[in-house]
Amino acid sequence: MTINDLLKKGIYILLENNISNPQLDVELLLSYTLNVDKVYIYTHRDEEVSNESVDNFLKLIDRRKQGYPLQYILKKQEFMGLDFCIEEGVLIPRQDTEVLVEKIINIVNNGHFKDRKVINIVDIGVGSGAISLSLVHYLEKAHVYSIDIDNKAIEITRKNSVRLGLEDKITLLKGNLFSPLTPLNLENKIDIIVSNPPYIPSQDIDTLQVEVAKYEPRKALDGGIDGLDFYRKIIPESIKYLRKDGVLAFEIGYNQGNEVANLIKESGSFKGVEVIKDLAGLDRAVLAYCNK
Ligand code: GLN
Repeated sequence: MTINDLLKKGIYILLENNISNPQLDVELLLSYTLNVDKVYIYTHRDEEVSNESVDNFLKLIDRRKQGYPLQYILKKQEFMGLDFCIEEGVLIPRQDTEVLVEKIINIVNNGHFKDRKVINIVDIGVGSGAISLSLVHYLEKAHVYSIDIDNKAIEITRKNSVRLGLEDKITLLKGNLFSPLTPLNLENKIDIIVSNPPYIPSQDIDTLQVEVAKYEPRKALDGGIDGLDFYRKIIPESIKYLRKDGVLAFEIGYNQGNEVANLIKESGSFKGVEVIKDLAGLDRAVLAYCNK
């Protein structure tokens, strides 16, 4: 079979199994199988493929057709222009989350922390390290304390930090929410607290697309009955750690802007609470300045 035959066959199988827009997936799976880049696939359509590669490719198509996420097969995902390794067990970085990271970078670049020698960041629920590592990559003076309760998340973030040459700018801590910070005496010393916590209401998870519902880690998605459990826990604790004028920045669900903004306002320790929309015009992030 030729490259062209395999592309057609792959697309046909995925379409038959209701995987929408399969063309890019198929091209990436074939270039992954053949260990060539995508351009090679476009420019060598008539090249014959070995039987072994045909088998390998069809095995990958077989997994993808069941909804298994492409990124878990390719074991990578780009985020903020950086390549992240990922594996099953950690949440796949989303483009939507870039809105949150860009907003924080803008605040810093506009001089909000210009007097600081080091900008101390805490990231609650680090996952693959996408938020933490892109922040310290783009912010020269930043150091991030990144926490996750999950071993796999710590392991993948460590690997990504080394690959990106950022291991000196991250302190990885395993544990629940703020608890691993206790021995570090960072109360009133943190400039930015950022989190993309689990925020999907428990009963909604099974209604998400199969890639997410079946294959992504439930504990990275499940935010309790109304999806807001983690905001309720993080907001009061964050006040202890933030400096005056420190920034609290959350990713939120598409309809959680008012609710999370209200939780922050009700704490009485923040000003300038702002809901930020994503490229689709949906609520995506909330930001506030500590006013204690
Ligand atoms: N953005 C993810 C989704 O839509 C949810 C991530 C989260 O709960 N933090 O599937």
